[in-house]
Parts: sequence; C-alpha cells; structure tokens
Amino acid sequence: MPTESPLRERIERLQNRIHIACRRAGRNPTEVKLMAVSKTRPASAIQEAAAAGVLLFGENRVQEFQQKSADLKALKIQPEVHLIGHLQSNKAAKAAEIFSAIDTVDSLRIAQRLNEAAARLSRTIPILLEIKLSTEETKTGLAPGSPDLSQLLEQLPKLKNLSMRGLMTVAPLDQDPEAARLCFRSLHTLRDQLAPRHPQLDFRELSMGMSGDFEIAIEEGSTLVRIGTAIFGTRTSPA
Ligand SMILES: *Cc1c(COP(=O)(O)O)cnc(C)c1O
Repeated sequence: MPTESPLRERIERLQNRIHIACRRAGRNPTEVKLMAVSKTRPASAIQEAAAAGVLLFGENRVQEFQQKSADLKALKIQPEVHLIGHLQSNKAAKAAEIFSAIDTVDSLRIAQRLNEAAARLSRTIPILLEIKLSTEETKTGLAPGSPDLSQLLEQLPKLKNLSMRGLMTVAPLDQDPEAARLCFRSLHTLRDQLAPRHPQLDFRELSMGMSGDFEIAIEEGSTLVRIGTAIFGTRTSPA
C-alpha cells in the first residue's frame, strides 16, 4: 500500500466531512468550496496541499504573503490565494498585485484604493465584503444596516475594476457552537435581504466557517469554508 502524507490524509478526511455535512443539509457538495488557510505556513506547505488537490488558499497578512508569493513563483506554482485578514489602505496597492481576490473589504475607502490599484494593473479584482456580526471589539467588518454598508453597496457598481462576489464573516471565538450558528444564519439572512435590493451586484458567495465550526456553517448555507488547523495542524506562531 502506498504511504500517504499526513497532510494528504487530513485533506481527504476534511473533504469527506464536508461531503457528509452537505448531504446532511441536503446540499450538493459542489456548492461548497474548500479554502486552505496557509497563514504562518511556508510556501512548501502550499505546494504540498496543492499537490493533494487543494485549489484555493487564504492568507491573512499582505507582508507575509509577499515573500511567500515570491517563493511560490520559484516553485513554479501559482495557486489561487485570497486575502482573508484585515486590509489597511496603505497596503491596498501591494495586495492588488499579489492576491487573486480580497475577501475582507470593509470600507468604501479600501474599495476605492483597491479599484485604483486594479485599474493601474489592468485587472479586475474579485472581492467579498466582510460583515461584522459579533460584538467582539477585535473583529473588523461592516455592521449590517450601517450607513457605511449602504454607501459602499451604492458605490460598488461604479468601481469597474472590482467584481463583487458576496459576503464573508468570522464567527465569535465563543466555545458555544450555537453562537456561531446564529452568526452564520444572520449572514445568510442579510444576503437574502441585500441581494434583491442591489440587482447589479453578485451576492453568490457566503464565506463562513473555520476548522471548529465549518459543519454548522455548511448547514447554514456557506459556499466557502476557510480551514487552517484541520489541514495544517495547530499553529505555533500567532496569527
Ligand atoms: C486563521 C483564519 C481561519 C482558519 O482558522 P482555523 O481555525 O485554523 O481553521 C479562517 N478565517 C480567518 C479569517 C482566519 O484568520
């Protein structure tokens, strides 16, 4: 029997759990994309996960990925990598250069900066809007019902180098999985309210669910789960 790498095994086990959660929720597994969150991991870990069939990666820091993207180029692989951490406007230009998509747009200012940078690069950047549904002070994102969110949604169709794809959220760090469920359900409800009011915008993606709560997120309509620990193991350095 061929020996399998632990990483490959963990990815297979995870894909299996995603399938089971989809079946339980009466959903087609093709509706749920797996993003491997590779923050704090070297480019070689991305290479190994890509070889095991992972198509999409998430990184939370512009600076960290800047080095890694050069390493990936040297390894001759160019996987799809999204920014899933907070973006500061002074890093928007660099982010527009190195990421396939930005999943954490949380202000009109950031959207404008990204749009300008994308125009200079002659590209269109897919984006998600980050929504803050938890009351934790440390969480970033736009509050549902806020003037900032309405203003951004109004302006987005004019930002021609951005392509809106949906919403993302991070559940509270709470140990209670039902708190996460409420948060995921709120994001789904918000999407269903906003989509008909903004027919020019695409709201298909709901990025929600991490290693500890992705099955609940799938039950609540997630189309993209962001998994770090369950693929790469416990992170030793903070992120
Ligand atoms: C780190 C991170 C994840 C992955 O978390 P795990 O618990 O390791 O699966 C998902 N989303 C965001 C925004 C993150 O920063």
